[in-house]
Amino acid sequence: MVNRQRMVDEFLSLVRIDSQPLKERQVADAVIAIVKGMGLEAVEDGIAESIGGDTGNIVVRVKGSMPNVPAVAFAAHLDRVSPGLGIQPQIRDDVIYSDGTTILSGDDLAGVVQMLEAVRVLKETGAQHGDIELLFTVSEESGMRGSKNFDRSLLKADVGYFLDGGGDVGAIINQAPAQSKIEVKITGLPAHAGLSPEKGISAIQVAADAIAGMNLGRIDFETTCNVGTIKGGLATNIVPENVEIMAEVRSRNEAKLVAQVKHIVDGFEAAAAKWGAKADIGVTHSYPALNVSADDKAVLWAQEAVKSLGLEPKVEATGGGSDGNILAGKGLTSIVLSVGMEKVHSKDEFIKIDQLVKGAELVLAIVEQVAKG
Ligand SMILES: [Zn+2]
Repeated sequence: MVNRQRMVDEFLSLVRIDSQPLKERQVADAVIAIVKGMGLEAVEDGIAESIGGDTGNIVVRVKGSMPNVPAVAFAAHLDRVSPGLGIQPQIRDDVIYSDGTTILSGDDLAGVVQMLEAVRVLKETGAQHGDIELLFTVSEESGMRGSKNFDRSLLKADVGYFLDGGGDVGAIINQAPAQSKIEVKITGLPAHAGLSPEKGISAIQVAADAIAGMNLGRIDFETTCNVGTIKGGLATNIVPENVEIMAEVRSRNEAKLVAQVKHIVDGFEAAAAKWGAKADIGVTHSYPALNVSADDKAVLWAQEAVKSLGLEPKVEATGGGSDGNILAGKGLTSIVLSVGMEKVHSKDEFIKIDQLVKGAELVLAIVEQVAKG
């Protein structure tokens, strides 16, 4: 039912079209044309200008013939990381690669093509199903600006599957951490390091003192913390006045996230007070956690669907955030599904054609499970 060659052709043609965060116009227009070719309407929201891009999020509604079946949404993003311009895809032994000078952008065009093919098959077969919504987001790879600005009420569905996970089809990601970023500016007092060091307050020493007393790395099974950058000082003969530090905390548990952020903030504030320096600290909540119970129907539908393809479902947690987190924060029961892409965000990225095809079959199988109730 899923047409392998048609999927490969569509994937290759979309991959060859340039796209990047905030500049998804060409690939979006290609997707809109494909959708219209299926007799469906593509609605673009109005966020392009407000996020400084040239394209909004696109919603496609596929009306079902089973009014009592809940609506279900599938989502994928239209942008890609760099180097992702001028991609020349190649096929070797039923695996699709780039030519080695760019990424492949299976992240996330594999998901895009899987959604499109599934809907095309539903149209061709006239299968009975409930309402289906497709969401194509923009600017996922640069701060998830598309999904952050997306009006959730444009989706009727309570459950959304984000076709944006790496690895073999069959992985069902029901947990992903929330993330907060902490930006710290420590201001000490400059002085000549040789003539009058006692008149200075070393911002570097304050930062070192603070960081040395912090719990970092893996805090517990669902929480991590990292001091990622530190910049400061001007020369060896000056007691450094300024240091800037960037840190992040991730946790699948929002309370633990808050507690760890407080631990970091308190550490810098205490060290600054001890040394007579000043600490200016900004905390940004980057995205909320995605946390769906393993016995939620959204997980069960996906599990049954994976099994129906003869595959072994793996319900698992990830350490990364995605559009799924953002929509989870807006009340959508969000699940991330693996689409078969490998080594994403690298020039070695590839996808097996078998996996590309299985992803479309999985979308169809989920639609079938939802219809079964
Ligand atoms: Zn992605």
